[in-house]
Amino acid sequence: MAIATTNPATGEVLKEFDALSDAEIEEKVARAAQAAQAHRATSFDERAGVLRGAADILDEDVDSLAVTMTTEMGKTITAAKAEIAKCAKGLRYYADHAPEMLADDIADADAVDASRAFHRFQPLGVVLAVMPWNFPLWQVIRFAAPGLMAGNVGLLKHASNVPQTALYLEDLFRRAGLVDGGFQTLLIGSKQVEAILTDKRVAAATLTGSEGAGRSIGETAGKQLKKVVLELGGSDPFVVLPSADLEKAAKVATTARCQNNGQSCIAAKRFIVHTDVYDEFARLFVENMSGQKVGDPTEDDTDIGPLATEQGRQDVVDLVTDATAKGARILTGGEVPDGPGWFYPPTVVADITTDMDIYGEEVFGPVASLYRASDTDDALRIANDTDFGLGSNVWTTDDAEIDKFVDGFEAGQVFVNGMTTSYPAIAFGGVKNSGHGRELTKFGIREFCNVKTVWIA
Ligand code: NDP
Repeated sequence: MAIATTNPATGEVLKEFDALSDAEIEEKVARAAQAAQAHRATSFDERAGVLRGAADILDEDVDSLAVTMTTEMGKTITAAKAEIAKCAKGLRYYADHAPEMLADDIADADAVDASRAFHRFQPLGVVLAVMPWNFPLWQVIRFAAPGLMAGNVGLLKHASNVPQTALYLEDLFRRAGLVDGGFQTLLIGSKQVEAILTDKRVAAATLTGSEGAGRSIGETAGKQLKKVVLELGGSDPFVVLPSADLEKAAKVATTARCQNNGQSCIAAKRFIVHTDVYDEFARLFVENMSGQKVGDPTEDDTDIGPLATEQGRQDVVDLVTDATAKGARILTGGEVPDGPGWFYPPTVVADITTDMDIYGEEVFGPVASLYRASDTDDALRIANDTDFGLGSNVWTTDDAEIDKFVDGFEAGQVFVNGMTTSYPAIAFGGVKNSGHGRELTKFGIREFCNVKTVWIA
């Protein structure tokens, strides 16, 4: 993919960038390695000062930065501003809380015949972050805020369609006073990643992206015996049971499916509804979905902007076409609108069978798959009948049902009577083909630490 800013609302290529040469990459990796030495020697207070400074800059830059994000990947301007605010919050959260997450963990000295025993969390060094375009700021800050607090430094390979947001991020940390080279953006294509991850000066990698990219990075990291965190795709279930507040569930279901123009790994994608309330939920859901305003993402009242890339929209069209050809029914949407830009309407697909591609694949656009479950066991069976395991949602007021789904969902996250969201203060990650490792909280921050065991006689 060319490294370029292309406006998804018009299809117009606005700015193109050359990929870095090998010599330029070498210079940046060398600088990162030096920065790692300098940064690990800084105190928590100094690192927290950088993060708070970056948060303040984001607050100041919100209007212009939101325009850049919307122009590069099509999210609504309202969503872009909300993402920036969340990043500022996340930076401040890790400035405040990382020291306690990284404090020495005291072990039972008596049990190991020591006077003192503990675990100390030390940085690994240079971490390569390969990131996607869908939340072009938050995906990066989710790694950078805890990572920098832990004393690691970052090399960012961002998605090729968000180069200006990527360059902004390097500039953000420079302006906030991070050590020289502590966070650098590499404008490179995905083929240039392997050599960087193989470089001895790079200690580890984190990837948020597709399953294919995850397998590729995971393979390289495995060969090099390097730590890797993989946050991959999802096809999250959203289970609605008879005791649920159906109006609220249908409203939240619409937000959960259409957020970010339908392009979120933790978007609810499969709506699995108990047969007793299926018809009423379907009616309310279709009403909500068809009421969404699709259009110019720079307008404040637009709910859904274009998909980020032409190929991304084509993938959605292909999945819906395959489903209808095999007998699925479209309850709303399903037609590509005329005109420029890669728009796709909110769509609800029912009567899905296991031979359809949409049954097993992730749909990265505002298309909801609707399933009828005969009872709670059937709902859980359908929910888990997927290779993915990122987020999950269940709507019920029955405590026994809550327990059943909290225990039973094969997923990294369970949200009850609400939609899966990535909050700075709770862990994020998946199981199965959604990846491994965690981001955020003490679990995430320690992924890129050497957990050093200390035993003192
Ligand atoms: P990709 O995996 O294609 O892109 C993500 C990043 O990985 C980009 O920087 C891309 O670079 C890079 N990349 C792609 N292939 C390789 C490779 N073989 N080696 C090294 N780097 C590579 O994802 P999409 O653009 O298709 O994004 C959507 C996908 O990402 C969806 O499946 C979605 O679910 C998943 N995702 C997961 C999230 C999570 O948190 N779990 C969050 C957001 C998205 P380039 O742009 O140059 O190709």
